[in-house]
Amino acid sequence: VCPTAAITEISEVDKVWAALEDDSKHVVVQTAPSIQSTLGEEFGMEAGTVVTGKMAAALRRLGFDKVFTTDFAADLTIMEEGNEFIQRFKGNKNLPHITSCCPGWVKFCEHNYPDLIDNLSSAKSPMSMFSAISKSYYAEQTDIDAKDIYTVAVMPCTAKKFEKEREELLGDTDAVLTTRELARMIKEMGIKFTTLADEKYDEMLGSHTGAATIFGTTGGVTEAALRTVKEELDGEPLGRLGLGFEGIQEASLEVAGQTVNVAIANGLANAAKLLDEVRAGNSKYHFIEVMACPNGCVGGGGQPLPTSKEIKQKRALGLRNIDESGIIRKSHENPMIKKLYDDYLGEPLGGHSHHLLHTKYQKRDKN
Ligand code: SF4
Repeated sequence: VCPTAAITEISEVDKVWAALEDDSKHVVVQTAPSIQSTLGEEFGMEAGTVVTGKMAAALRRLGFDKVFTTDFAADLTIMEEGNEFIQRFKGNKNLPHITSCCPGWVKFCEHNYPDLIDNLSSAKSPMSMFSAISKSYYAEQTDIDAKDIYTVAVMPCTAKKFEKEREELLGDTDAVLTTRELARMIKEMGIKFTTLADEKYDEMLGSHTGAATIFGTTGGVTEAALRTVKEELDGEPLGRLGLGFEGIQEASLEVAGQTVNVAIANGLANAAKLLDEVRAGNSKYHFIEVMACPNGCVGGGGQPLPTSKEIKQKRALGLRNIDESGIIRKSHENPMIKKLYDDYLGEPLGGHSHHLLHTKYQKRDKN
């Protein structure tokens, strides 16, 4: 279920089957970072087993025209949000900067902390950035009419179903499946998941880095952002942040001769503690990451059951292993992201990026 208890699960499996059977549609799929280390559990595999290659193979057998990854757009989010943070930090404006890629958290903020909406990053979530790019840049590059592109997102939670229905984002993502719904489709097709040979994501929107993969666990967005921010401002790599799995974590680092204090909250009760400090003017933080689910997306409501802290830790370790074994671990080094800016977007926070990749939030009633 959704951590905010405000969003009920509506299955979109039938919609996706219908799109896959519709020859007039070019159906592309993106899978969120965390799914790589959780989907295997639905097929009896140990929690944390990395199944990226089997997942790509299964998605092709289901009939998707292109198999891409949300990780690509997580790198894009870092390019936009990292630069947004640099701008705010230099100008001492709208600090602390607060992440906004978790729709459960964003909705909680709109209801309970509307006075802090200006502190939220305006960067769309990786899911919504991917969908916007699939119907603009990808459509242009492949000469496919954007109205014929049907974009499916496999996500760790039902809150992402709410996100795609937000007025500002409507039309970008056509359907959201949870990890469990994807597993259901694979089983319905009779695909023997565990025996599939590994395949790769498709080119263009399938390129990604280790920084993107760790978005799926608590602290991952912060670490990914700071890898890029530190290199951009100081020209040197970020050292180890030493993040763990606690409900609230903090770290400090020197960037451009100044101390940057960061905090990471997973679970909304923990977020509220940090936000009450911000509201009271007592917060020392410049950057705050919030994920609504305990332990981040590896603990999302659409992930395999049963779950426990130990299972979520194994899932997180799976993602960290992908990051550490990756050749490219920084979002700004993703070659397809560089090409996207060179060929199409121009520069982070530029006019084209702003139009396609940023959004706004609204105060909502408490009831
Ligand atoms: Fe969804 Fe991740 Fe937010 Fe949980 S933490 S509500 S899984 S985006």
